[in-house]
Amino acid sequence: MPDLSSSAAAGDAHFDPLMDGTITFACHRGIACFTKCCAALNLVLTPYDILRIKNRLGMISDDFLARHTETRFEPPGRFPKVYLKMNPGDKRCPFVRSLGCTIYEDRPGACRIYPIGRASMRVEQEKEAREKFFVVREKHCLGFGESRAWSVEQWMADQGVDEYNAMNDQWLEIISSRRALGPEKDASRKLQMFFMASYNLDKFRKFVFESKFLRVFDVPPGLADRMAREDTALLKFAFDWLKFSLFGINTIKIK
Ligand code: SF4
Ligand code: SF4
Repeated sequence: MPDLSSSAAAGDAHFDPLMDGTITFACHRGIACFTKCCAALNLVLTPYDILRIKNRLGMISDDFLARHTETRFEPPGRFPKVYLKMNPGDKRCPFVRSLGCTIYEDRPGACRIYPIGRASMRVEQEKEAREKFFVVREKHCLGFGESRAWSVEQWMADQGVDEYNAMNDQWLEIISSRRALGPEKDASRKLQMFFMASYNLDKFRKFVFESKFLRVFDVPPGLADRMAREDTALLKFAFDWLKFSLFGINTIKIK
């Protein structure tokens, strides 16, 4: 399934169905397993995750990607995914310390939703993403022994997941598209475009504002101003540009 599974799980995780839409769980500094989950993760970063973290760290996209991520083509020829690099020695997340996550307010969506996992896909012509939830169980996580009950909605609201899903679902529509990328020579160029617009927003900003882009594409002045001021507006536009450039969808117009 073309998917974006939101789950910051390590390799030994079990995935259980979410039986009645609720979990009994709590995570806090006093728990014996505190921060044990922040290691050995296969943590896929979405464009919005990258935007939030690189801004939090005051880094430009190129430096953040080089220092903190690795890119994998899974399967080969399809859109590349960017993973958060764990520390080479202890395999811990580079942002975890004994007092917890040092980028907590800007932590990735997968860390927010844990220990719930969300598998979602966006189908063209459907307004909302299709989603399924499951429970991620790992031996080291003692949070399931706590007594607080949550519905999925309560957990997501408490952890600030909704804003992430809203941004991620727009991108999901691109990576889960079944449309072909065209002949091989076009496909490799399109993959480069995908990488820039998805993961390297600083490069995409230069592409929009420092090339002939605004002379070629019909971008309303109000939108151009907003993109210059707001990273989220620029990222949403990047998704529209990708739909146009990769698949020929009429999301933006040529002058
Ligand atoms: S309870 Fe689970 S999520 Fe919380 S710190 Fe422990 S291992 Fe991590
Ligand atoms: S980003 Fe924060 S919450 Fe996520 S794994 Fe790293 S330290 Fe843990």
